[in-house]
Order: sequence, then C-alpha cells, then structure tokens
Amino acid sequence: MTAIIVLLGAPGSGKGTVAQHLVDNYEVLHFSTGNLLRDEVKKESDIGLKVKDVLSSGGLVSDDIVSELVEQKMKDSLEEVDAVILDGYPRTRTQAIKLDDMKSGALRSSIHVIELDVNEEEVVERISKRQVCSVCGKTYGYLDTVCSCGGKLIKRKDDEESVVRKRLEKYEEETLPISEYYSDRLIRVSGEGTRREVAQRVDEALRSLGIEKRR
Ligand SMILES: [Zn+2]
Repeated sequence: MTAIIVLLGAPGSGKGTVAQHLVDNYEVLHFSTGNLLRDEVKKESDIGLKVKDVLSSGGLVSDDIVSELVEQKMKDSLEEVDAVILDGYPRTRTQAIKLDDMKSGALRSSIHVIELDVNEEEVVERISKRQVCSVCGKTYGYLDTVCSCGGKLIKRKDDEESVVRKRLEKYEEETLPISEYYSDRLIRVSGEGTRREVAQRVDEALRSLGIEKRR
C-alpha cells in the first residue's frame, strides 16, 4: 500500500529542501496544504470559495475543511505513487486523528512521520543569514547579491533574530502535541550539516519504510 509520510520541521529546518529532494528522486506526490488551498481558491471550487476570506485575512482554515481537501486529493492518487508526502498537515492533534480515521481507519498503518531535527541556534543562524529576491521571492544565502531574475536581494523582517525565535517557539508549541500523538510512528532525522548529508539521512529513513529511489 502507498505510504503516507507526514513531514514535520521547524521554520529553517530545511523542510522545503527535503520535500524537493523527495519530489526529484522518488515516485511521490507532495501535498503542501498552503499550495492546495491556494489552488482551490484559484479554481473557485466549493472549498476555495469557503476559505478565500479566511486565507486573505491571514486566519487558519478549519480542521474539517483542510481534512476534507487532503482526503479528496489522496483519493485520486493514492495507488499511483510509492508515497504521498503531506506538508503542513496535520497541523493539530484533531487533524492527526482525522487522518487516522480516513477511509474507516484503513490508512492508519501506512502513515509514518519524518521529523527534521535542528538545533535552535543553527536555525537562527541559517535564517538570519537568509535573503530573498524582492521580485520573484526566491531564497538566497547571505553571500549573494542579485537574483538570477535580476531582482535585488533583501532581508525579510520575518527573518530577524527575535522574530525567528518567536516563530520557533510557536512551532514547538503547535507541533509537540502532534509528535507526541505519532510517537510510535515517528522517525527523527537530523537536519544538520550539508544538503547532501541531510538527503542521505532522509534516503535511509525512506529505505527503512521500504521506499526506494526511482531516479
Ligand atoms: Zn528573482
């Protein structure tokens, strides 16, 4: 049966890079809740119309709506891939329970969680060195000056140290109940070191679940 992998990682843990590694090397689908919701809004689907105002005011979409969307998306694609990567879902314990209950609990045994572990100081250092393109939003390190699109690189206010520490604290608070809920299905992977090192650890974790690279 197709595995369902919940990807957890604090801001700055390199979760985006890991997700990209999975998409590039494995036969997987990557469902990022943020992107899924924005797609629905664009399509003006029933769900899209329901969440449009919530999203534009920066609010959180209800557990029921997000769970319904994830279930719908998985229904069409579950048997076609080796794994579905869930990113940004579940975000609460309630959503985690809903995920376990989908298809009358038939999915439960195929759900695994990979959590990227990074030391707070390393995250603060990574993020406070980060720059983004003022035109296209692409992320760069502190040594770069211009984006490949020609746009000027700037530091985001969100990336200042005090803001980063607050975001990490909030992430911990929100995520702890989820990692606890999944304690029997949780694989911790260190997110420290180079991209290559992290990718190798993630590969090992997937291999332990019986999922091999396809390219
Ligand atoms: Zn750019």
